[in-house]
Amino acid sequence: MSGRTRVQACPERTCIGCRQRSARDDLLRAVVIEGRCVPDPRGTLPGRGAYVHPVPACYELAVRRRAFPRAYRTQGPLDTGELARLVGRAEAQETHQT
Ligand SMILES: [Zn+2]
Repeated sequence: MSGRTRVQACPERTCIGCRQRSARDDLLRAVVIEGRCVPDPRGTLPGRGAYVHPVPACYELAVRRRAFPRAYRTQGPLDTGELARLVGRAEAQETHQT
């Protein structure tokens, strides 16, 4: 509605999947806790956060591009299963047959 968009009032983040910028509210923040990628819908968890659109397509792109470990600067395995469930990726997997 309001045409006034300030950096502080409307923070933008880049989706690590499709690389498009969106309002932070449209993106899902996720942080890494002990090797697990944990969704942080309220944006309250401490640590380095990565932002991705909460849709299977962007999640998959991010996984394929190895964007998660890059965003978190982690090495080694990263469990993104919880995130996958949240974006509906788990369901998609079950109905993947064509
Ligand atoms: Zn995206």
